[in-house]
Amino acid sequence: MNHNQLFRQTRLQLACWYAGVMGVILGLCGWGMYEAIAHAHWMTLDRELESVAGTLHDSLEPVLQEPAQLEPEVGRLLPDLCTQNEQCWNRKFTGKRHAIGALHQGYYYVRLLDLTGNLIAVAGVSPDRLPEIERADTWQTLTDSQGTRFHQISVVLHTENGRDWGSLEVGRSLKEFDDYLGAVKVIMLIGLPIALLGVGTASWGLAGFAMQPIYQSYHQIQQFTADAAHELRTPLAAIRATIDSNLRVENFTIEDIVETLKTVDRQNLRLSQLVNDLLLLSRMDQQELPLKPSPCCLNDVISDVEEEIAALALAEDVKLTTEVRVQQGVQVKGNEEELYRLLFNLVSNGIQYTPAGGEVTLILDASDRQAIIQVKDTGIGIHSQDLTRIFDRFYRVDSDRARHTGGSGLGLALAKAIAKTHQGNIQVQSELGQGSVFTIRLPILELR
Ligand code: ADP
Repeated sequence: MNHNQLFRQTRLQLACWYAGVMGVILGLCGWGMYEAIAHAHWMTLDRELESVAGTLHDSLEPVLQEPAQLEPEVGRLLPDLCTQNEQCWNRKFTGKRHAIGALHQGYYYVRLLDLTGNLIAVAGVSPDRLPEIERADTWQTLTDSQGTRFHQISVVLHTENGRDWGSLEVGRSLKEFDDYLGAVKVIMLIGLPIALLGVGTASWGLAGFAMQPIYQSYHQIQQFTADAAHELRTPLAAIRATIDSNLRVENFTIEDIVETLKTVDRQNLRLSQLVNDLLLLSRMDQQELPLKPSPCCLNDVISDVEEEIAALALAEDVKLTTEVRVQQGVQVKGNEEELYRLLFNLVSNGIQYTPAGGEVTLILDASDRQAIIQVKDTGIGIHSQDLTRIFDRFYRVDSDRARHTGGSGLGLALAKAIAKTHQGNIQVQSELGQGSVFTIRLPILELR
């Protein structure tokens, strides 16, 4: 298949399309997964911050007395709280401080701001020089001077007696989150081309697999066209040679003319036979059922064949016998002419491929609502390696001998096609030098 430019190109195109479509699907799936992972993490993060802020808010409000005033009780609740005057200001997380459970990982910070938004105290990690933000938003995502992102929630704090105290900000670094999503992105970016490579290779293989039957029928058509052209060329060349040689003869006798016409007629007959066989085969390729089906009595068809071919058997010195093993007539639904053609081809083959003194038997039997017709001969037989091919169009085991018998290699192909359109089948058993048995099975229409 790869030697044919058209098929190679089509296979490549198919593989590229498969890989392209799969690439888009995989890309969309990867993007969807990435978004789902990011969303799930973001939700968890929000819930954590909300829960920490809520707990702190509920614990702090009962101890706050004056707006923007830090009561000692606040320091008890947040032990590592650092006010602006203390030296601990801007300290970095050492990994040893533990304020409340949620802060212990070191990614969290708590900030207390007065009503104007000035920082009063901080606990946990303090992001370096966070940009000014719009305090009206409850949720904010900020980036510090180092480029680290932080996510925080802001809640308003009231004093014990309901006056505004300031606000509480609880936030956490998004470094861990960003690193994780970055890793997921890298895995996907590396994984996608690798997966595409796999998909591309599989697509190439699958495209080849899918195109195999198309290529086979293309090859068969090519072979058939070449064989048909070859078969048609032989009689045409013979006619032309006969005419050419006769044109060179100066004085024609009447015998010469008759001889020439006989040769032309013989070749013409061969041509017409070939064309008729080809037409019949192509018609059978197109239709599933026999032409104008009607009940046919196989006993009658067999007698007709025997009668027609008796002269040939006599001429070839082959004994032709018929054995009807059923008491009643066997009826099948089909086209009598086609069934006649089927049996005629088999019996004439049997006679032609059986040496003088041999025997050809035509048997009619029935079993399991099937008509069984056998054509047995004691002829030359067929080699096992040829048995699978003898039903192919234009196939001849021994071309020279077959051509000598006038065969074109279409007889068995036609027999098989006729059996098939009659919902039956044809099988062959043969042994070289011993003879052959062709068995046809057809569904019985009615047993009288
Ligand atoms: P042809 O017209 O050449 O006989 P067929 O299609 O009828 O073509 O048969 C195909 C080939 O099968 C023949 O060339 C012949 O070699 C082989 N064959 C068919 N029938 C017999 C048989 N009864 N005994 C031996 N060989 C046979």
